[in-house]
Amino acid sequence: MVSKIPNDIFQFSTASALMAGLAHNGPSCGQLPGYGTHGIGTFSRMNGELLFLDGKPWQMLPSGKVQPASPHTSIPFVQVTNFQPEFQTKAPGLKKEVLVDLFEKNGPGAGGKNSFVPFLVKGKFKSLHLRIAGPQEHEGQDLAEVAAKAKKWSVQDVKGTMFGIASPEWMAGVSVAGVHCHFMTEPEQGKDAEGGHVLDFETGDEAVLQWAVTGRYHLGFPRDEEWENLDLKADAAGLSKAEG
Ligand SMILES: [Zn+2]
Repeated sequence: MVSKIPNDIFQFSTASALMAGLAHNGPSCGQLPGYGTHGIGTFSRMNGELLFLDGKPWQMLPSGKVQPASPHTSIPFVQVTNFQPEFQTKAPGLKKEVLVDLFEKNGPGAGGKNSFVPFLVKGKFKSLHLRIAGPQEHEGQDLAEVAAKAKKWSVQDVKGTMFGIASPEWMAGVSVAGVHCHFMTEPEQGKDAEGGHVLDFETGDEAVLQWAVTGRYHLGFPRDEEWENLDLKADAAGLSKAEG
């Protein structure tokens, strides 16, 4: 099965379609494990952020609640991979803006600005600036508007896991160019998990970064009249503002 190939990316729909407000139908959460182990995405009506970790999909809701996602919930945009890290390093003091340089500095074949790089950071985080978007106030509301109204907040000194994908600029509009990642705290007894889409982060002393370089990228599309009627020209600046 093609999805058994490590670190291939399977994606449904495009970032431009979200920007144009298309966000109700898609595969269901129950289908995700058939495509890989880790991923990020959004839910129907952009209702929160999706983090797929070790085969389990989590829904981080605009209320702040983090819950296992229902297998029946549909996902209008998602990127999934069978994540098998090829590189690992201790990463204290790591920041979002130096991530792609760090991949490149690990030598040929370790990724860089022209590759897709799925990555995972686990351990302590000194700080994170998070966001949870949605839900859309009306059908068709575009991502820029939904993101502008999203709840944003910061957390300090937390332990958790971040998974994301660094995408090359040449895929802007199809993917989210640059570093796109979601985070959640370790579920602890008696304490609610917390997380969201990561706007910025800095790791603490005990953080480990793992990553791999994607060799193939598989893209699925909606097939209906609504899709055909969308204006899908890439709005790179708008997308970077909404998802950066
Ligand atoms: Zn996101």
